[in-house]
Amino acid sequence: MLSLKISGLTKVYLNGTTALDQVSFSAQPGEGIVLLGANGSGKSTLLRCILGLETATSGDICIGNWQISQLNSQQLRQMRSQLGMVFQKFHLVGSLSAFHNVLHGALGRSTSPRYWFPATAPEIERKRAMECLDRVNLTHFAQQRADTLSGGQQQRVAIARTLMQNPKLILVDEPVASLDPQAGKEVMDLLWSIVREQRLTVICTLHQLALAREYGDRIIGLRDGKIQMDTTVNYLQDRD
Ligand code: ADP
Ligand code: ADP
Repeated sequence: MLSLKISGLTKVYLNGTTALDQVSFSAQPGEGIVLLGANGSGKSTLLRCILGLETATSGDICIGNWQISQLNSQQLRQMRSQLGMVFQKFHLVGSLSAFHNVLHGALGRSTSPRYWFPATAPEIERKRAMECLDRVNLTHFAQQRADTLSGGQQQRVAIARTLMQNPKLILVDEPVASLDPQAGKEVMDLLWSIVREQRLTVICTLHQLALAREYGDRIIGLRDGKIQMDTTVNYLQDRD
């Protein structure tokens, strides 16, 4: 579990677009935050700033004891190794097995070439990769090529790969935008049950209010780079 504090974060791209405008909020350890916003509202920019992939124009982000703007590249790598990431388009290596993709989650801990091949990876990591696959109910698909799995299965492999990393904070970018509603619901149910069970802090971007209400402890709405609302889900439901 890691806390996250974002203060006055502003990002102006080189072409003059203001993608984030004075964004401030804190996430408590174990809190499940949904970032809700239409296309272009700044969600991806915010996630990239949290990962340190994008430098803020002003403001700062603290993750645990790390203040991102003060970190050198080695410290940034160390910080990133504590963060899990789940993407809209899964980002698996399609020609490799589900198991092999999950094993790659260990690469943040060690860049040893042993991890490049399942046969040479340490036994303890191979065992853990199978446990992570089991947690997403894909034990029977371990040896199947990732690009032959359904979208929902691929996203579950991506979640298992993130678990392999043993992250303290998970950033999830539009996890169900590439899935049909049924597969999307299964992925969200699974992801949220893991997040609860491991008491992970999670920041998940979504663009559908209904999903946001169903899963978020708290919804932060972004529009044109500004926070439009920051509220708990109960409050939203009470207003109906
Ligand atoms: P979202 O993830 O909510 O769709 P983004 O963070 O991708 O929003 O984009 C926020 C705004 O910043 C948009 O107007 C987008 O066009 C712009 N933007 C995103 N990335 C860049 C970039 N690299 N250079 C210039 N403008 C960008
Ligand atoms: P996603 O749908 O996954 O949020 P996008 O399609 O919005 O991704 O953006 C894909 C990439 O293009 C991102 O890296 C983003 O920074 C970049 N991008 C988005 N909008 C712009 C823009 N107006 N100018 C330059 N780059 C952009």
